[in-house]
Amino acid sequence: TKWVLTFGGGSAEGRADMRDLLGGKGANLAEMASIGLPVPPGFTITTEVCTHFFANGRSHPSDLAAQVDAGLRHIEAITGRRFGDAENPLLVSVRSGSRASMPGMMDTILNLGLNDRTVEALARNADDRRFAYDSYRRFIQMYSDVVLGVEHHHFEDLLEGLKERKGVVEDTELDADDLASLVGSYKAKVAEERGEPFPEDPRAQLWGAIDAVFSSWMNSRAITYRKLNRIPEDWGTAVNVQAMVFGNMGETSATGVAFTRDPSTGEKRLYGEFLINAQGEDVVAGIRTPQPITEAARAEGKVKAPSLEARMPEVFAEFVETARRLEAHYRDMQDLEFTVERGALWMLQARNGKRTAKAALKIAVDLVNEGVLSKEEAVARIDPASLDQLLHPTIDPKAERKIVATGLPASPGAAQGEIVFSSEAAEEAAGRLDEDKKRRSVILVRAETSPEDISGMHAAAGILTTRGGMTSHAAVVARGMGKPCVSGAGSLRIDEKAGVLTVAGRTFKAGDVITIDGSTGQVLDGAVAMIEPELSGDFGTLIGWADEIRRMKVRANAETPDDARAALAFGAEGIGLSRTEHMFFDEARIVAVREMILADDEAGRRKALAKLLPFQKADFAELFEIMKGLPVTIRLLDPPLHEFLPHTDQDIAEVAQAMGADPEKLRGRAEELAEFNPMLGFRGCRLAIAYPEIAEMQARAIFEAAAEAGKATGEPVTCEVMVPLVVGRADFDFVKARIDAMAKAVSEETGQKLAYQVGTMIELPRAALRAGEIAETAEFFSFGTNDLTQTGLGISRDDAAPFLSHYVDKKLLAYDPFVTIDREGVGELVALGVERGRAVRPKIKLGICGEHGGDPASIEFCEEVGLDYVSCSPFRVPIARLAAAQATL
Ligand code: ADP
Ligand code: MG
Ligand code: MG
Repeated sequence: TKWVLTFGGGSAEGRADMRDLLGGKGANLAEMASIGLPVPPGFTITTEVCTHFFANGRSHPSDLAAQVDAGLRHIEAITGRRFGDAENPLLVSVRSGSRASMPGMMDTILNLGLNDRTVEALARNADDRRFAYDSYRRFIQMYSDVVLGVEHHHFEDLLEGLKERKGVVEDTELDADDLASLVGSYKAKVAEERGEPFPEDPRAQLWGAIDAVFSSWMNSRAITYRKLNRIPEDWGTAVNVQAMVFGNMGETSATGVAFTRDPSTGEKRLYGEFLINAQGEDVVAGIRTPQPITEAARAEGKVKAPSLEARMPEVFAEFVETARRLEAHYRDMQDLEFTVERGALWMLQARNGKRTAKAALKIAVDLVNEGVLSKEEAVARIDPASLDQLLHPTIDPKAERKIVATGLPASPGAAQGEIVFSSEAAEEAAGRLDEDKKRRSVILVRAETSPEDISGMHAAAGILTTRGGMTSHAAVVARGMGKPCVSGAGSLRIDEKAGVLTVAGRTFKAGDVITIDGSTGQVLDGAVAMIEPELSGDFGTLIGWADEIRRMKVRANAETPDDARAALAFGAEGIGLSRTEHMFFDEARIVAVREMILADDEAGRRKALAKLLPFQKADFAELFEIMKGLPVTIRLLDPPLHEFLPHTDQDIAEVAQAMGADPEKLRGRAEELAEFNPMLGFRGCRLAIAYPEIAEMQARAIFEAAAEAGKATGEPVTCEVMVPLVVGRADFDFVKARIDAMAKAVSEETGQKLAYQVGTMIELPRAALRAGEIAETAEFFSFGTNDLTQTGLGISRDDAAPFLSHYVDKKLLAYDPFVTIDREGVGELVALGVERGRAVRPKIKLGICGEHGGDPASIEFCEEVGLDYVSCSPFRVPIARLAAAQATL
């Protein structure tokens, strides 16, 4: 087997489309090398070796060593250096890289191959002893941390101690002798911590590094990241071994990162940061403040340090051209890593750049306008879930801003919440509920974040850091998560121990509320007023293209006028589910609802229902009016009646008094209605079967409202009456007969013709199986996949928390079936229902109204089985419109 593929010197064995085998980094290094860009030569050990490694007790395929040796010889031939050589040593970096980019999750080791002999050769050849020892001390620190488990802080302490003794502030002020003595103390430290000396043999170093990269695939940071991003564990990581180029060889050397377009706004301009005389992660680590790449950015920004354009005009010109070529080659915005060694540009990484949702839209729309992409390709590029970010609020421009500090606008959108200083505190606080039963909103405030903070960042509403640039860890990860972030707010001082944040004499404690504006970089005192987002511009353009492409319609689940208006604003083409019971909880109505429940006989119930009729009628009339002729599906009462009754002694007493009812009777009825398993209990059409007068009242309200709305607008109202929880045709027909009779009655009373359909939810396995006979009389089906998942898997959603995650963690289920439809089981029931229903009534209207209707992966399934529409919560309508378009591509 070929375990190792080489690149460099104008060609490569790999290609960009081999990322499964080579990882994203390796595949793109190969691609860049083969299109003739300056890439230091190297080789990639495939992801298959990683899989082998973990499947075989952390050991290698037997022929790997020989292939790695051949790979080294390839690098040696191109560079003219030899690994471990005392005269002209080759140094390499060992870099991880999996299929999906996992920023900062895995560890890279630079300057590998240095020891007490090779460092002297490096110094001689570069004619720079300081540089050589700077590289050496970096190597020892990195290698010790990643491979030997001797943590960074040991070395930081030694470095700080040395700087203090020398009376200097910057690392760059230390001379060669200082650094050589630092190397000595680093090695002593390692020996002390490990009980054995630092490995001097370059080959031992290399294998240690390779295994450390593989092992890091299973470190807890990587595992958390994979879980959050649904990256399968068996993908594995590749290892890239590559000749070093040095950005730390003095004032004509540099290292940097850049995006070919602005990753925050999508604007078409080169955007990036670099540092003179620096190496590797220095730019993103936030140790020194990076300098802008372009003069334009310098002119705009607060950073006064000179740009790459000004400092190294020739390198800059070459870089601009390289960036242009790469963008054209990959047909997408690129995220680039480069190093300049004594005036020579070297490309170290290219990948499609992460961007905010806003930037993604702008870039996709611009690329279509530039003739690079088709509309279909642009639509396919946007992650539907990311649109969520754009539906986030921003700060009301009219609100007063009490600015506490200003940092960098690292990830757009505004967020407010209580200050927390640690990820644990963020997770803990966000797990609690406030008085309104909403999750508490917190802002994670850190000097800078590291991969350990991922879960805390997830839990927080926004992230604020006091150090780091636009490409710092916090900024990159926040943009990926769609969380507002302000980074590098340098005037803030965090005292984590004391749990306070100070700025200009003011002190904020943990728990104090602040607002951050990730679009301006401002940190504001208190909870500032926010406004809803604008849905025009690039958003409108792209969604418009999606609308041209998609086949399925998108409706919304809505019952209140506000929901219905929001749904329309987001582009819903009707209401797919209006849950009438939500209308019963209103204070004025609940009394009548309770009277109905307490009534001893049908006459009593009818009396109470008569009080409810005008309320329901008004509700429906309003919905019809707002939806202006678009279809509206109204579901008859679904939940068990006991949900409307009070349960605690105090509530019972209060309600009884308000109603003028006997508290004992109320309690008795509540007890009578109590169920062991309400989800499978007295609910759905079972209510209408036991008490047909309830369905009759609801039908009357619907039809009277429809008649009125039809008369008012002159347009017939398209209303669809939906019967929940049927098990077959017989129970459906029983309820349908009541509905039809009521339609006839109302039509006669009002003299208005009514355009209506009666259909049913398919939400029980038996109903899916009996779909053929149900379709004989039902004019539409709406798959209620929440209940179908509960009943199909026999899992009560409300009780699932303690065990469902085990299924997912132990890989017994690929994902939570309440989030994404279980294709094999529940999906099969849906497919069966579709097939049997259509066989009997070819034109039957088919939709879905479970939460799956807003989940892109489930929407793809809906397209496959040929549903006519999906219905989801109003805020997910744009996501569903885009996902429905993608499902057809
Ligand atoms: P990550 O996956 O975290 O981005 P990389 O493997 O890209 O890690 O390494 C981080 C940085 O190390 C690179 O951006 C680059 O600056 C530096 N680096 C890696 N390999 C080399 C090399 N061969 N020569 C010089 N610098 C390197
Ligand atoms: Mg990188
Ligand atoms: Mg249901």
